[in-house]
Amino acid sequence: MRKGIAVSPGVTIGTAYCIHEVFVDPGRGLLESHEVAGEIAKFENARKRSIQDLRALQQKVEQQVGKEAAAIFAVHESILHDATLVGKVHAWIQDEHLSCQAALAQLLEYYRGLLDRSRDDYLRERLADIRDVVERLTSFLSAALRKDSGALSGPTIVVADELLPSQVVMLGDKPVHGIVTQAGSQTSHAAIIARSRGIPAVSGVAGILRQTKTGDTVIVDGREGHVIVNPDSEVLTAYRKLEREFTDLRDQLAHNRDQPAITRDGQRLELLANINGVADAQSATAMGASGVGLYRTEYLYLAHASVPGEEEQLAIYRDVIASSPNRSATIRTLDIGGDKTVPFLGRAQQEANPFMGWRSIRLSFEHPNFFLTQIRAILRAAAPLPDSEPKHVQMLFPMVTNLEELRRLRAIVRRAQQQLQAEDKPYGKVAFGMMLEVPAAAVMIDQLLGSVDFVSIGSNDLVQYLMAADRDNPKVSHLCQPLAPAVIRVLESVVTACNRVHRPVTLCGEMAGQPQAFVILLGMGLRRFSMSPAFIPTVKELAAHVTVAMAENLLAKAKQQKTTRKIRSMLNAELLAIAPNLKPILMQ
Ligand code: PEP
Ligand code: MG
Repeated sequence: MRKGIAVSPGVTIGTAYCIHEVFVDPGRGLLESHEVAGEIAKFENARKRSIQDLRALQQKVEQQVGKEAAAIFAVHESILHDATLVGKVHAWIQDEHLSCQAALAQLLEYYRGLLDRSRDDYLRERLADIRDVVERLTSFLSAALRKDSGALSGPTIVVADELLPSQVVMLGDKPVHGIVTQAGSQTSHAAIIARSRGIPAVSGVAGILRQTKTGDTVIVDGREGHVIVNPDSEVLTAYRKLEREFTDLRDQLAHNRDQPAITRDGQRLELLANINGVADAQSATAMGASGVGLYRTEYLYLAHASVPGEEEQLAIYRDVIASSPNRSATIRTLDIGGDKTVPFLGRAQQEANPFMGWRSIRLSFEHPNFFLTQIRAILRAAAPLPDSEPKHVQMLFPMVTNLEELRRLRAIVRRAQQQLQAEDKPYGKVAFGMMLEVPAAAVMIDQLLGSVDFVSIGSNDLVQYLMAADRDNPKVSHLCQPLAPAVIRVLESVVTACNRVHRPVTLCGEMAGQPQAFVILLGMGLRRFSMSPAFIPTVKELAAHVTVAMAENLLAKAKQQKTTRKIRSMLNAELLAIAPNLKPILMQ
């Protein structure tokens, strides 16, 4: 049994599907001689299509963002023409009878050996470019791959180093029942994606890719953070029982979707959904959310091969709003940088501290046309449509640090409104809000409140910045505890400040969906919670068991404890007594 971080609750059993750096053809041995020519043709076809793709991308980005941003695609194209690189792949297919996938994996290893340890930033950057190119090539090979891996038809457990959004897209048609990653933490992408789909997941399991091979039986216990590879029959039987309990409870709770979110003493709550796109907005409705509290628009860009134009964005935002419960959606402007990069907006030159660097609005400010386009599209998507139900659209800006930024953002929104007015394009009323995720903003919250219509607390980032611990670095992510005494104190001061001036405040970090954190936040006076849709039924059920007075009492008790461990164990014991029926779901 291996121990990792429990990132998405539930218990599941399935067959391992190991994703190495690139999608290596699973279970496929060496090629037969007669297959070699076909494999080279497959590679050449992927190379040709990648070149076409890059040229189109370069042109589009040049028009929409500028020459500088588009230059990266020319670099990528030149890699695809590099005779040494192409020669190596051909030779490995021809002489060593490797499949395309295996040859590309070997290529990455080769360049990594050559460049990774280099002290030269420029050379290390080139390795990142080669990775990008290999990922593009494999995306053209993936249709063939999916056919090859068709044998994996039963419940699949994906085992990977870290799951990238693009890989999740590629896995779209697979029956993924569980996810295990070597890297990552509670708030990494793999975790967020797993939770949004209700898939049990464990992260931070060092070395699991070396110890597991495609086809192995794997148990994922997302409550305890345990992973068991090839269990014996007794263990398997015990976990099958747990798996059943978990799915039974999940099915049972799904029935509360049409009930209002209300505490035992009748306090009404807003349980909103965090979404990444239209499909999630639909599952938010299915899970009984009352609206969308956070639409992370970056996935639109991450999954997109090029810059989406205003009309394209408008259509998507309209779709998301129409699919959101009560047509209520909070749309967050682009939040990339840090761990997420979008090649067409340029990659920061190997930042030493990407999370503290050029991300979110800091990056958007430097691409004014691009930023304005997104804001215009959101304003237009909010325009009321004749003969249709009213919409409630809010615009949310990530990583706000100070008052100057808020003023600058307001000015950009005003400019977008003036432009639309002049062009006679209809737009709607949109509330203006800030993410509260930088400690400086938490300290100054009372000053900032005068400049915003609402606040959304991004506890994932707030916690990592407050604790000075990268949320995706397994070596320090243990410090990123939403129930740490320091975090509780800061959160309470923010919620109190917002409530004092009646400014709506939501918490949209992952802790909103964690039962222990939920009761503490309720005790602070928070009434709006935004979480992965899969958590809504559980939180709704839990809310029905607690009164506001009970939550206030639990907060007071938590504040008397001096360590996170004590707070957590006190809350675990109390919650099991309050809602024993939720036992299969309650995380550690
Ligand atoms: C957060 O920081 O809490 C948040 C909701 O945003 P993200 O996880 O996308 O940074
Ligand atoms: Mg954030």
